[in-house]
Amino acid sequence: MKIIVLTGAGISAESGVPTFRDSDGLWEGHRVEDVATPQAYDAQPSVVHRFYDARRAALAVVEPNPAHHALARLEEVLGDDLLVVTQNIDDLHERAGSTRVLHMHGELRSALCRACGRRTPWTGDLGGLPPCPHCGASELRPDVVWFGEVPYGMAEIQDALAAADLFVSIGTSGAVYPAAGFVQYAAMHGARTLELNLQPSEGSHYFHEARHGRAGELVPAWVESLVP
Ligand SMILES: [Zn+2]
Repeated sequence: MKIIVLTGAGISAESGVPTFRDSDGLWEGHRVEDVATPQAYDAQPSVVHRFYDARRAALAVVEPNPAHHALARLEEVLGDDLLVVTQNIDDLHERAGSTRVLHMHGELRSALCRACGRRTPWTGDLGGLPPCPHCGASELRPDVVWFGEVPYGMAEIQDALAAADLFVSIGTSGAVYPAAGFVQYAAMHGARTLELNLQPSEGSHYFHEARHGRAGELVPAWVESLVP
C-alpha cells in the first residue's frame, strides 16, 4: 500500500512550535507580509533575518512528539511506500527518524543562496550575512517558500498523490493552496482519503473519513491500526 501523508502546523504545535498565523492574524507578533514575502526581504532584510534566525534558534528547545514518532515508525515498515509531505519548516520529522520527507515550504535549517541558487544545511544565524560555502557571495536568505513563490517538489508530490492508495492529512487548516487541493487530486486518482485534525478543516468534507482530536493521540492510534 502506497501512502502519502501531508502534515501541517497542527502536528508541530503539539511540540510547542508556534503556529503560523495565530488567532490574532499575526505570526509571533509580525504581520505575515512583513516577514514572509520576497518584497519584505528586499525592503528590510535585517528584520526578516532576525525573525527567521530566532525561529531557527528556537528549534533547539522543541522535541518531536508521539505523532512524529509514529510516522517514523510507519516509514520503518513501509519504506519507500510512504512519503511525508510537510508544510512545516521545522525538522521535527527528521529528528523523529523519518527520512522520506519533502518540505514543500522549505526548511529553517537550510540557507538558499540568491547568487548561485544552491541550498546549504544551516543551523546558525544568517543575519550577519555570512558567505555562501559554494560561491562566496554574502547572499544567503532563509530557505523558506514565501508568499508569491513556488513550493518545492510539486511535480514529485503530484506523482505521489496520483500513485497513492491512501492520502492522510494531519494537522492542516485546509485553507492554504496548493496543499488544500491535494485531497481532491488524490481522490480523483483513486486514493482513499483520511483527515486527522484537531477540528474539522475547511476542506473536511472532501475526505472519505475524518477523525478529530490531538495529533499526538490520533496519529499513533492510526499507525497502530495499520502496523500493529
Ligand atoms: Zn552561492
